[in-house]
Amino acid sequence: MTATVHESTEAQAGVAVSLQLLRDILEEQFAVHTNRLTELVLCGALPHHGGHDPRTLAVLTEASRQAVADTAHALQRMSQGTYGLCQGCHRAIPLGRLRESPQTSFCVPCEQARSARSTLSGRP
Ligand SMILES: [Zn+2]
Repeated sequence: MTATVHESTEAQAGVAVSLQLLRDILEEQFAVHTNRLTELVLCGALPHHGGHDPRTLAVLTEASRQAVADTAHALQRMSQGTYGLCQGCHRAIPLGRLRESPQTSFCVPCEQARSARSTLSGRP
């Protein structure tokens, strides 16, 4: 094997290792969020909501549900081979951003544009 082939194989292995790491993180997050959501739903079914404020419980449940959905979508994109591509501009999301929030489906500029739009339309 030539040195060039060896180098490119190593570079590909680096990306594969990162993806494997991100998949591990996502799978762990999925388990954590699913457990949390189950706990919250069970709390909501208890008499007096298990002593929790119903509105707080509703907000936490919704946030957990969203987190489970986001993580599941990221894992789905991984299996489809579209993981790491921005859903807005279809460019590769920088690895640093994926490490910070592995479930994201938008690059920073697209994410900012989205939240600016939802702020303008008055939606959360
Ligand atoms: Zn983008």
